[in-house]
Amino acid sequence: MAMKSGKEYIESLKKLKPVVYAFGEKVESVVDFPMFKPHLHAAAMTYELAVHPEFEQEMTVVSSINGDKISRFTHIHHSIDDLVNKIKMMRLLGQKTATCFQRCVGFDGLNAVYITSCDIDAKHGTDYHKRFKAYMKYVQDNDLMLAGAMSDPKGDRSLRPSQQADPDMYVHVVDRKPGGVVVRGAKAHITGSVNSHEIIVMPTRTMGPDDKDYAISFTIPVDEKGVTMIFGRQTNDTRRLDGEIDPGNAKYGIVGGEALIVFDDVFIPSERVFMDGEVDFTGQLVETFAGFHRSNYGGCKVGLADVITGAALWMTENNGIEKSPYLRDLLAEMVCMAETCWSCSLACSYQGSRTNSGAYTINPLLANVVKLNITRYAYEWMRLAQDIAGGLIITLPSEKDFRNPEIGKFVDKYFKGKAGTSTIDRMRIVRLIENMAVGAGLPESMHGAGPPQAQKMMIQRRANMERKKELAETIVGIKPDKYFEKIVGQSEAEYFSKFRK
Ligand code: SF4
Ligand code: FE
Repeated sequence: MAMKSGKEYIESLKKLKPVVYAFGEKVESVVDFPMFKPHLHAAAMTYELAVHPEFEQEMTVVSSINGDKISRFTHIHHSIDDLVNKIKMMRLLGQKTATCFQRCVGFDGLNAVYITSCDIDAKHGTDYHKRFKAYMKYVQDNDLMLAGAMSDPKGDRSLRPSQQADPDMYVHVVDRKPGGVVVRGAKAHITGSVNSHEIIVMPTRTMGPDDKDYAISFTIPVDEKGVTMIFGRQTNDTRRLDGEIDPGNAKYGIVGGEALIVFDDVFIPSERVFMDGEVDFTGQLVETFAGFHRSNYGGCKVGLADVITGAALWMTENNGIEKSPYLRDLLAEMVCMAETCWSCSLACSYQGSRTNSGAYTINPLLANVVKLNITRYAYEWMRLAQDIAGGLIITLPSEKDFRNPEIGKFVDKYFKGKAGTSTIDRMRIVRLIENMAVGAGLPESMHGAGPPQAQKMMIQRRANMERKKELAETIVGIKPDKYFEKIVGQSEAEYFSKFRK
């Protein structure tokens, strides 16, 4: 089947009947529910750009599985170029939506399971990889969007899954039947889940021998029997219903749209199971997925930085102070931080490597550096945007005041920038900055793809600190320096002998 356009993607969701609750009510139609529309449009952009020839390089690729031209979001990376084009795609989509476009989580899950299932088979003689390749063909043939579901509710964080007072704090197998398993539990904070076609489930942490029933990875349609989604609240979420300007980004929203996914005794057929009890591969699956997702943030969030920097520049011009050295300096700082994160993402892609499956993965150390930088720099460039935009971002009257026949003229007059400019356009930019720099999207930079602590753990593990210590020891002469000895033509001891008397 050909790739879907944005509109066709939305149409395709109408065929699904997921059980979704939001604000205490059952949602009859995901595509018609006003609160979901903005983030639905953002996800639709991942489809729409793929059918425009000008974005062919970033958005599409020839499948290694079915040989067709497919959306990159359903692709398994098979080269360094694939990894690089992926983050170019992320930045492009960040620029076009100014928010989270959601489809990357499932995309990263597909690549992580592809790589890990191959390694599990090699060690345990299972056939997960073959099953998964067949599943990938189905995903590509139908241009599907998958929600990537990793985070379990976790209960008492000091206890392992099998030690929890409530065994459902982590998704686990509760029954085994001919042809499949039955699972129970939940996955929390799952981006784009209500508007995905399928869910890919992965364990959320390294498991021990007693956690076998929790070492489970599978895929399932969103409307499978026993699956219920409960949509999360966000700061200012009801603004989405408040007109064209006040939401800040009425077309694409503030953030991805997250939900709790409950698995209440859901039957998973064997052909949809890609890990079942192989606790020794849980760490690898988590780390591979996390590496992919963390590497994205120097793409998608930098696309957002491009938008907010443009909005900040617009405000300086509208206020007539675009030549201010102070403001120009702040704008340069914003660009520098964003491009630093972009460089990190490029580097971790160019430093990627081939796995046993033939698929490529990013450099895990650098991917964690990308994400840790985003937890700092995204806040910093948004802080500078607040500085540039001024207090208006939290004091501006509503769009309804502007349109009010009695007082609209005052709003128009007193909230105008320099002469000859439009107040309503100024309000649009101010609200966009409010949305992006003050709104609910920012904590996503902190906690999406894991909090800073998770990145620091991975950085410590991957940084080869002992080697760094050895470097210092070699410089000062605690360890031998054979190159120095070649340069000076004698041993270090001889060279420094006059000081050692
Ligand atoms: Fe994609 Fe970025 Fe959203 Fe993650 S935060 S799903 S990488 S857009
Ligand atoms: Fe995210």
